[in-house]
Amino acid sequence: MGFCLRSASENVSSLSQIRRLLGVGENEQFKQSHAARLSRLTGASEAWLIYALPERAGKGAGRRYRCYGHAFRTPTALRARNPQVCPLCIHHHGYAMAVWDLGMSTTCLEHGICLVDQCPTCHRLLRWDRPSLLWGHCAHAISANFIGAEAPGVTRSFQALIETSFKKESTNSLLEEFQLPRWLDGLSPSGWTDLMLAFGTIEERFQVPADGTYTRLHRSESALSIVTRGFERLMTWARTCASPSTITDLIAFAPLQGLLLEPAGDADLQIGQRLCEAVYGVDISQKLRTRNPALAQMSLF
Ligand SMILES: [Zn+2]
Ligand SMILES: [Zn+2]
Repeated sequence: MGFCLRSASENVSSLSQIRRLLGVGENEQFKQSHAARLSRLTGASEAWLIYALPERAGKGAGRRYRCYGHAFRTPTALRARNPQVCPLCIHHHGYAMAVWDLGMSTTCLEHGICLVDQCPTCHRLLRWDRPSLLWGHCAHAISANFIGAEAPGVTRSFQALIETSFKKESTNSLLEEFQLPRWLDGLSPSGWTDLMLAFGTIEERFQVPADGTYTRLHRSESALSIVTRGFERLMTWARTCASPSTITDLIAFAPLQGLLLEPAGDADLQIGQRLCEAVYGVDISQKLRTRNPALAQMSLF
């Protein structure tokens, strides 16, 4: 999407015009099926557009969202609607990074600041179809003077991990550096999203999260607080080998259940099983599947 935006502003065209030409409504998202025509309009390679545009595959519990060569369990693991940016990067480099489109991306590693999803002047959410990379839809500039807060060390660590997973590279050395179990290597960006939602959503014991907490797209600020809490807790848990009873009421089960029942891939399923066994002290995946026989028989891929 970042490329489309840049290409549209360079060609003195606009995403709105491209939408009209393609017959895509203002609130509708571009999909892989638009790649060929979008390629002719923007000059971007069709293969690249197929890689960068989201597509829904499968039905019901078997539904996955594919984008950037990864499968995602939920559409909100991606920022398909409201992008976030590093104001310094868009000014210095003139582009937005694909990894910023992950729901749990929070930090620019180059500048060490938090990503932002709102206009610095009127605080409206940024949109993909804004006039250009540096201008908001509200006609305010996204100035390089408007920089996000300095990113906490813990979110930088998590960002390094999720960016490595996004590139499909080995995370072993990072896991070792953060004293996390090596068996987490291979977890997909979707799996890491579930892990942060599980470990970071609940602020204090006995809190009941609001409806939709695990399925909605979090604002940059909210994602930052989830990752800060979640990654800190994950590291503390791994270092102290906390007994299940001390941690389970701080971990949200719903995202872990999603990881087990609707994994984005085989590696996620295996890692999810191992994690749940370590956290809860029992293999709950078998129980879940017994209770959901339809899911147990479902062919995921
Ligand atoms: Zn930056
Ligand atoms: Zn504005």
